This record gives sequence, structure tokens and C-alpha cells, in this order.
Amino acid sequence: MNRKAVISPPIITPSEVPAGSFMLSGGLAARGIEAPIHDLSLGFFRWLFLEYAPKAGFANCKPSLDYLISPGTEFYKPHKHRSVCGVLQSVLKSYQKLFPGWQLSLMDSVPPGITHSTSGLISLAQSGKTPFTQYFKLWMQEIRGTFDHALISLAYISQLPAAVEIVWLLEEAGIKVTVGGSLASALHDTGSGIELLNSCFKEVVLDDGRSVVNENQPFLSKIEWPIFAKTWKYFSSRPVIPFPLTTGCTWNKCLFCPDRNKPFMNVSINNLKNILQGGPDNPIIHLIDSEMPVKAVNDMLPVLRNKTSGFYGFARPQGAWLADNLLSRMADSGCLMLQTGAESGSEKILRRFMKGFSPSTAEKVLGEISKLGIRNYVYFLFGLPGETESDRNLTLEMVTRLKGKIDYMNLSVFNLPEKCELTERATEFGIIPGEYDGEASVLRFYRPFESMDGSNPRKEAREFISKRFRPDPTVLPVLQSTPKWFRAGHMALMEKTDLF
Ligand code: SF4
Repeated sequence: MNRKAVISPPIITPSEVPAGSFMLSGGLAARGIEAPIHDLSLGFFRWLFLEYAPKAGFANCKPSLDYLISPGTEFYKPHKHRSVCGVLQSVLKSYQKLFPGWQLSLMDSVPPGITHSTSGLISLAQSGKTPFTQYFKLWMQEIRGTFDHALISLAYISQLPAAVEIVWLLEEAGIKVTVGGSLASALHDTGSGIELLNSCFKEVVLDDGRSVVNENQPFLSKIEWPIFAKTWKYFSSRPVIPFPLTTGCTWNKCLFCPDRNKPFMNVSINNLKNILQGGPDNPIIHLIDSEMPVKAVNDMLPVLRNKTSGFYGFARPQGAWLADNLLSRMADSGCLMLQTGAESGSEKILRRFMKGFSPSTAEKVLGEISKLGIRNYVYFLFGLPGETESDRNLTLEMVTRLKGKIDYMNLSVFNLPEKCELTERATEFGIIPGEYDGEASVLRFYRPFESMDGSNPRKEAREFISKRFRPDPTVLPVLQSTPKWFRAGHMALMEKTDLF
């Protein structure tokens, strides 16, 4: 017997099916191979909130989940959403106290000890005393005898502690396990520590899924709606379907991008049609492209107009979005939100790092998105090498000019990827990449760096954000309205407010 199952370990935010598991199981389904998805993150949170919490005296979890699944209005009310997420988070915080040193949230799990140290993870898993053990034991009883080969799909480091434990339990039960997913391939291609992942698991594969079926063609060439082990609803008011229009990136030039070696491929729109045909009604398509390609979006719009669906995804705010009424046609076809990497208001910074658009173009794109009623979720990046106070002020000035047009904001401080063109050309950009001290056996995607001129753009950026940017009367209300939990999926489903 070779019955397969696709398994997604916790913790991933339980608002939509994890993309990697969905693609793997959907690709296998399209090849006639049944491999139900076992989303153990959704399972863990359901167990915690619906079984553990009432017994532990927490009464409000069920109504909170009921609200997230059926808010009773077309869109979430921001204040109600904030309060139910607060209820769930407080239960998690209370539960984590039973496991000294662990930190849990609706999107992360951090074990005690050295973060990302694999030897520590193995001994934790074998101790049988982690936050996941009780749920995993129940799940192991339930699945006994239903499959012989587990395909573990890993996308985030937040899944790793639980993955090590579930793999150990499955192998103890005599089930063959293969581990793969974007975390393994990203560590191999752009991070460091893949050998440590190999030391945690007997079989790690780095390809897109084709080795499971012994094929040479790209795995995403065929996908259909997969099978789910449980028909549970995700914690979302509408079903969210992850789908890539492409793999790789059409632009592929940003100097600090760690993903530029990903092979480019257009994913056939027929796959989306197949998925929509087999999937639930009233879905939202989460376009998981690194940047949505303009042409592929154009090709997709007629497909979405035929079905009651919404969609959202990442866009580089380039001028092409302003041509041919594209944004307007997107709004008419159900575009609920665009996540735009505006990055900086400084022309010098955008040009230096090859972003391929100017701040004035980004501003026009953001203004148009807002005018059409599409939610604007804008990402800003501070602390790039060579960034000065005047560059940061230009970013603040741009946001001020966009007052009332940005719904949500994400602020981050630059981290230097282990591998990217900027790291290779560090001297040219006036930086010296360094190494972290301490424990060597750790998984890493980034490394520290120093500036040759003695400046510290990351530290300066953090100070600017906390003293100038965050408290600014244009910025603060946007940050306060940006949900902390269930992020993008729920932001697309949030009522638009006129707070600012
Ligand atoms: S747009 Fe995004 S994915 Fe593409 S090169 Fe730039 S950072 Fe990388």
C-alpha cells in the first residue's frame, strides 16, 4: 500500500489552507493520486479553542470563532475583530504558561532555548511535553491505518518545532515520511543550515513536488481542487484559496531580493478554472505571487468575472498598473485589496536598489487604488544601506500626501539576506557583511552587516520609526487600524473605515 497524506504542521495562521499543502495535494489530485490535506495548524487551534479552553474555564472562544467564520455582515467590523482576536490570543498566552520557555501566537511558535537550533528541537520533540503533544497524540489515534506515506509541507520556521515532533511520532508508528516545501528549498537556495534540516529528518526533498510523482515537468503544470481530511471551515468569513499566477518574478532585479534564482513560469489559468470549479462558492483568491504580473492579471480577470469571487495579492507599484484602465477593471472583477511594496519615498533609494519605479509613480498607483475602493495595504522598508534622515523624511512626506488613502501599513527594517546580489556586491554599497556569534548549528536567512562609513542605518531607522514615523498623525491611525492577527486575508475582508 502506498496511501499518501499531505501534512501541514502548526503553526500557520488558520485563516486559509496553507499554500504549499494546497498545491501539493492539488497537483497530486490532478495526477489521479489521492493525498488528503491534514492541516494540523487548523486542527491544533480548533482543539485548543474548542476542547481545551472550555475545560480550562475560558468561555468566550466559541463565540469568537463563530464571529470569525460568520460575522453576520459582509465585512468584519474592525473593533469586533480586534476584540475576538484578543480573546483567542489571551487563551494562547495562558496555555503557553503550561510550557515554560515556549512562546505561542496565532502565527508563530518559538521553542525554549536557542531559536532554530535543530538538536534542541529533536530533544524537545522526544520529551513529549510540548504545547502540541496532547493534540498530536489524539490526531495519531484518529489517523491510524489511513495512510502509509506522509508528505510534510513546511513553509515557515514557525512550523519547525511541531514538524520535528510530528515526524518523530509518525516514524515511531511505522509511517514513511518525506519532508519538503518552500522552507527547505529557501534554506537551500538563499539561507544557511539546510544540512541541519537534513539532520532533523530522514528524507528532505527540495523540488516543487515532481519527485513525489517521478515527473520532469513542473508540478504546477496541473492542479485541481484537492481533498481535505476534514471539512472544517477555516477561521475566515469567506473561503480563501491560495493560487500563484506565476512562479519566480517578472521584474527579478531588486538587489536585496533573495528569491531571484527562482525559475520563472506562468501557471496556466486553466488551473485556476479547475480549482474554482471544484472549490467552494464565494471564495477569495489569494494571489501568492511575489509580485503579480500585469499580463497574467489581465488574463485572469475574465475568469473571475464569471464567478462570485474576490481576490488580493502583491503588486509592485509600477506605472503599468495605471494603463488600460487595469485597476478599474480589477476593482470591477472583485479586487478587494492590493499589497504594494512602495518601500521608500526616496527616488535615490529606489533607484539604488533597482526597484524599477519612482516614488511619484508609486504615489499615483496608490492614489488610484484608493479612489477605486480597493484596500491599500502598503509596505515600507527602512534602514537600507546608504539611507539617510532626508530619505526617511521623504517617505514620511509621501505618506502625508497620501493621507486618507492608505488603509493598512507594514513597516520593516532592512535585514541583509545571506545570499542576494547586494550581499555579493557589499563593498560597492559600502557595507561589510558579518557573522552572528554563538551557536553555529542554527538555521538562518539573514546576516548582520556594518557600514564602512560608520553609520548604522538599521539603528537610525528604528529610532526614526519610533520617534517620528509611528507617532505622526497621518501614520498612527493607519497603524492602529492594521490588524495584528490574521493579517492579509482578514484585511481584505475588513470593513473600510474613514478614521483618517
Ligand atoms: S519585486 Fe519582489 S520578488 Fe521581484 S525582484 Fe523585487 S523583491 Fe524580488
